[in-house]
Amino acid sequence: MDLPQLPLIDTFGRSHNNLRISVTDRCNIRCFYCMPAENVQFMDRADLLTYEEIERFVRLVVPLGVNKLRLTGGEPLVRKDLHRLVAALAQIDGIEDIGITTNGILLADQAADLYAAGLRRLNVSLDALNAEKFKQITRREGYEKVLEGIAAAEQAGFQQIKINAVSVRGLTEEELIPFGHFARQTGHEVRFIEYMPLDADNAWERDKVLFAQEIIDLISAGIRPLVPVPNSDPRAPAVDYQFDDGIGQIGFIASISRPFCENCNRFRITADGKLRNCLFSLEETDLRGLLRNHAPDEIIQQAVRDSIDAKWEGHEINTARFIQPNRPMYSIGG
Ligand code: SAM
Ligand code: SF4
Repeated sequence: MDLPQLPLIDTFGRSHNNLRISVTDRCNIRCFYCMPAENVQFMDRADLLTYEEIERFVRLVVPLGVNKLRLTGGEPLVRKDLHRLVAALAQIDGIEDIGITTNGILLADQAADLYAAGLRRLNVSLDALNAEKFKQITRREGYEKVLEGIAAAEQAGFQQIKINAVSVRGLTEEELIPFGHFARQTGHEVRFIEYMPLDADNAWERDKVLFAQEIIDLISAGIRPLVPVPNSDPRAPAVDYQFDDGIGQIGFIASISRPFCENCNRFRITADGKLRNCLFSLEETDLRGLLRNHAPDEIIQQAVRDSIDAKWEGHEINTARFIQPNRPMYSIGG
């Protein structure tokens, strides 16, 4: 019989049950806060973890307490047959929850297969509710495709669809009220994400961050008051609000103005198989090397423990000590 193993608790007492898996750094659009406009140097395909390698890794971290997964990228739906990976992961005993974060462009084609594979939670990133602003942000066409993707996901049976919208000062203010109405009409939670210093162009500035409280004030004044949702999960990165008549939910991932590092339960692997204990960490562990050299299970599990042990208390963005990681968001996996 396998001996029970200690959970992944770091030196600040945080327990890690939530693994984010990037499956590719490729993407079919070019959001300015994430990727360069042109000439992106993508990883060699041979360097990407295979689905079998990802599955082995997940099987190894389940006994350490991991029960929640999210697939991301780059754009996860550009990786061939992603539903195969979802199906394999959904069958692992101990995995209770699998989600995907996608830009939605390929969702219309894949929603039914993903649902059939066992996926139930879908976050679709959409920063604007008009085609022109969408193009300005993503530097590509595709707005209608995202809307078609959301509709296809509803049709396929997804009941938990969240819309992620990055909020940027001087750019997305006029999207706030339309998104408020969208949340009320569709029943999908809209979550505003504060712009973080993870862009490839190194153009992030604190002044460009549109803070959660400003958004709450603007939407409350423009539609009707937003009030905190009672009893929301304190470990979730999003702080949830709802309109005071109970119709429509708005969340905030306020990494800059309300950092949630204190309750962080997440770690991640990049598409090329590096283990990272934080989105902003400056160090990573070469998991792919271990997997490809057929390292024993215990060695891989110890590498995870060592990485979690080395986790910092917080991301330091609000201090002079902050150093932007040399991997932009698309290469880490958001
Ligand atoms: N391509 C998929 C998508 O866009 O949903 C998954 C990967 S993307 C890197 C994951 C999330 O990170 C998206 O919601 C995206 O808007 C967000 N994101 C990317 N760069 C960001 C940044 N600099 N600040 C805040 N959020 C960012
Ligand atoms: Fe692609 Fe997602 Fe990055 Fe936008 S945020 S460029 S969709 S990986």
